[in-house]
Amino acid sequence: MPQGKPAGTACVQLDADLRCRLFGRPERPAFCASLRPGPEMCGASRGEAMAILAALEAATAPAQAPMPR
Ligand code: SF4
Repeated sequence: MPQGKPAGTACVQLDADLRCRLFGRPERPAFCASLRPGPEMCGASRGEAMAILAALEAATAPAQAPMPR
């Protein structure tokens, strides 16, 4: 994704089984390869992982610009 992956958007490299098409390949972004799964990020299920991810995305989202008056 040339402009980066927006929060809340699935990566275009995920296949139908939610597996990374680039896993193990040199084209895989270095950031992705640097992530190490663990219980604090993955929880104990896919549902827990998605809830943790949503919370992380909300906590790190750019601040909204104030509305013009
Ligand atoms: S590891 Fe990176 S490239 Fe692969 S699916 Fe996840 S975000 Fe996309």
